[in-house]
Amino acid sequence: MISLQNVTLTYRTGHRLIPALRDVSLEVHAGEVFGIIGYSGAGKSTLLRCINLLERPQSGQVWVDGVDLLSLRKRELQKQRKKIGMIFQHFHLLNSATVRDNILFPLRLAKTPVAEAERRVAELLELVGLTGYERHYPSQLSGGQKQRVAIARALANFPKVLLCDEATSALDPETTQSILDLLREIHRQFGVTVVMVTHEISVVQRVCHRVAVMDQGRMVEVGRVVDVFLRP
Ligand code: ADP
Ligand code: ADP
Repeated sequence: MISLQNVTLTYRTGHRLIPALRDVSLEVHAGEVFGIIGYSGAGKSTLLRCINLLERPQSGQVWVDGVDLLSLRKRELQKQRKKIGMIFQHFHLLNSATVRDNILFPLRLAKTPVAEAERRVAELLELVGLTGYERHYPSQLSGGQKQRVAIARALANFPKVLLCDEATSALDPETTQSILDLLREIHRQFGVTVVMVTHEISVVQRVCHRVAVMDQGRMVEVGRVVDVFLRP
């Protein structure tokens, strides 16, 4: 489903060069819940952002669902990106928009007919347990509720892949558990391929099938979670 081959990415800030990914290769199978773990600065987030080309590597290949993303023109890339949803540590909601309008946003971009988009919003709100919150603003929601809205938004266009960048790192343990339960449920119901970046082993142990360990821009280990980490 996802294949990264010999990906190298170096950030330039002024004349400083920061190597973030050094010859990284990765295969994630369809329907997998895949973890990427490592210390801060290891390159996890950069790697995740290469999967939808939010960052463009200087060399290597990125394939998603049989398509070579780096070969695509802008228009075709936008189409492919509809297959990939993403959620973030700090939710990235539009704070001046209601819950409903946040979820409508990707549906409008995809030119979904209004009546269908409204139905989809209702369906997504039910899925994430926020029916009745349409008119709320993000500032009126708890962290866990904000992440539920972000998950609904990410799933709006029926993606095949869900990318999660430290999606539970800003949440307390109880809320973390409820969001992980929701992600498991989404995976179970829709068979979405999930790639999850985290610095917490417990998160990987609770939901991931396989895990990649990153350190200083390199992939140092890939395997089944049970083999890479001993269960506590
Ligand atoms: P789920 O959360 O999908 O219901 P579990 O967490 O109960 O699955 O999975 C238990 C084990 O089954 C995992 O640790 C993994 O080894 C294996 N497994 C289940 N689904 C997959 C899959 N799609 N790809 C790879 N391994 C899987
Ligand atoms: P992680 O997600 O594992 O914490 P990142 O992918 O965020 O790691 O960062 C990898 C390296 O790239 C770090 O040294 C970080 O400081 C650097 N980096 C990340 N984003 C940028 C950026 N936009 N500009 C310059 N350097 C960056």
